[in-house]
Amino acid sequence: MNVSPVIREKLLRLGIQTELDLLLHLPIRYEDETHLFAITDALSGQTVQVEGIITRNEVILQPRRQWVCQVEDSSGALNMRFVHFYASQIKTFAVGQRVRLLGEIRQGYWGTEMVHPQCRLVSQGDALAETLTPVYPTTSGLSQKALRKLIAQLLQDAQYSSQLSETLPNDLIHQYQLFPFKQSIQYLHLPPPDAPMQALLERTHPAWRRIKFDELLAQQLSMRLHYRQRRSRVAPVLAARQMLTAKLLDQLGFQLTAAQIRVNAEISRDLANPHPMQRLLQGDVGSGKTIVAALAALQAIENGFQAAIMAPTEILAEQHFEKLSTWFAALSIRVVWLSGSQKKKQRQAVLDEMVLGAAQLVVGTHALFQGQVRFQQLGLVIIDEQHRFGVHQRLALRMKGESECVPHQLMMSATPIPRTLSMSYFADLDVSVIDALPPGRSPVVTKLVADTRRDEVIVRIQQACEQGKQVYWVCPLIEESETLQLQTAVETHQNLQAVFGELSVGLVHGRLSAQEKADVMTAFKQGQIQLLVATTVIEVGVDVPNASLMIIENAERMGLSQLHQLRGRVGRGSEASVCILLFQQPLSKIARQRLKIIFEHSDGFEIARQDLHLRGPGEFLGARQSGVPMLRFADIEQDDELLAAAQAVAGEMLDHYPQLAQRHVDRWLGSKLEYLRV
Ligand code: ADP
Ligand code: MG
Repeated sequence: MNVSPVIREKLLRLGIQTELDLLLHLPIRYEDETHLFAITDALSGQTVQVEGIITRNEVILQPRRQWVCQVEDSSGALNMRFVHFYASQIKTFAVGQRVRLLGEIRQGYWGTEMVHPQCRLVSQGDALAETLTPVYPTTSGLSQKALRKLIAQLLQDAQYSSQLSETLPNDLIHQYQLFPFKQSIQYLHLPPPDAPMQALLERTHPAWRRIKFDELLAQQLSMRLHYRQRRSRVAPVLAARQMLTAKLLDQLGFQLTAAQIRVNAEISRDLANPHPMQRLLQGDVGSGKTIVAALAALQAIENGFQAAIMAPTEILAEQHFEKLSTWFAALSIRVVWLSGSQKKKQRQAVLDEMVLGAAQLVVGTHALFQGQVRFQQLGLVIIDEQHRFGVHQRLALRMKGESECVPHQLMMSATPIPRTLSMSYFADLDVSVIDALPPGRSPVVTKLVADTRRDEVIVRIQQACEQGKQVYWVCPLIEESETLQLQTAVETHQNLQAVFGELSVGLVHGRLSAQEKADVMTAFKQGQIQLLVATTVIEVGVDVPNASLMIIENAERMGLSQLHQLRGRVGRGSEASVCILLFQQPLSKIARQRLKIIFEHSDGFEIARQDLHLRGPGEFLGARQSGVPMLRFADIEQDDELLAAAQAVAGEMLDHYPQLAQRHVDRWLGSKLEYLRV
């Protein structure tokens, strides 16, 4: 771009690198300098431009030092008032001068006034602006004036305006009644005097719709291209032989739910394809994803391939290991465990088994895709709680082992993804949803209890334990300090131990060694521990059906999905379960909203939808955020109808107009396409 280094640096700060970026730097609002209002016509609160002669100019000292000028036009007069001003200004705006003011009309103590208006001297008959004046997001040191000039120049320059040529085929433009692209850009930067201001501000104007549509389309196209590209690789054909899988189902103590059968079939079909599966399995906490994962792993194993399951925490990985070892032992399948905290020698033994192919299923943490990990023939990678891993796209490749085949990938998530999100930011994945819980679950009753009523809670715990039930006590999340969080957990444990002298109170937190954590969890599972004090490490996946009471301290500090996940740790048996959310007053507005939602809803999808509404997609995406193109203009909830259109158009363009599709993606994502090369 042809600008000075200083300006270039400022533009970079706004994320503007190219001319096109600059053209897509759209106004947040406008000022109307196309009209002159008669002073007496302007309504209070309205931002208007007026013109008149200065009839008074003085600095007054009461009630505070300020500069006041009276300006008169043929209809009346107003005061312009400045609290900050320079001596030079007082000189310039001398009595008798003609001045144009732009500002908000107010009724002040001395009558009609404008406080700190924009003002400049003019001559009678000076031309008015021909378009509305754009106000851009900017950064310190880069004035509106400078930005306006830069952009207006670009818009006039034929060379750049050719960069704005249409990327959509005519028939689709007509079919979806879209505003032309170049016109949209021009209109939004410099709207005509009669432009509907409200529609511009609310971004519902057809020009805005077109920009948002194009942005959504670029996202759709890139995700689908990405999908097709990965899909074009070769993967092992893992046919559904129904040998091991059937055996496992036989020995299981329960029947699969209809939802589990359906998603299992979807996965099974994908695995039999010669291209890598990229499927996201969604299911609320406790919906029974583990057995579905086990069946998928068996389908790989019965075809002579290895499978790997990776979980984000040691506790969760350990638990998978236990469960799957039990299930698979009867099938004489070798399951091994790999974690970062393993002793070197042990780890080496496991690694050897993996390379040789003796290990048929490997369960582990991040350690699974680090350094020298090699498989003999890896057919399937399963990633639990995928949103915790940022790198999943890279993963399959890292884990491809010795053959040229890419393993299939199954990602699992208990954080349900609202429909609009899976249509947009997750459009590069196939999605399966377990939409029903196994039968016989009794819903968890949620209670909101102010921290001042702790004593009642203590009594409740006592009673529950006397009845042979088990209880979780979840310590507050202290984001600022892990040490503080740990300290709180240790103290809570001591206090509760003192209160419940005769109960066995356990403690689990993130700083324990893997072995210590596993020991505590086993003791809890076996009923040796009755009350388990825990930090949020138990948030994901922990499964102890006999635990039917959970206390969450300082629930007002936690996010919705976290609360939902935590609460999902109870209500896993047939026992009626209760989750008590202790909160501390006063509650912030957002905390109050969150607690209301978690209190009123138990369906993870509904909670997720409301969460999306409260927080926007950013936090939802977690680690995904760095991997996919984010949206600047479109709002997937508000613009869901545009999103659906973009989805349809993306398919059409990839099939029938691949070159235009590529140009569209280049225009919108250009340099940001790094992730496509994954
Ligand atoms: P999540 O989806 O949260 O990972 P899990 O796989 O841990 O859930 O399953 C939760 C519990 O439900 C486990 O104890 C599991 O054995 C049990 N379960 C899973 N499927 C069924 C079913 N179809 N019928 C009864 N119990 C089931
Ligand atoms: Mg799970």
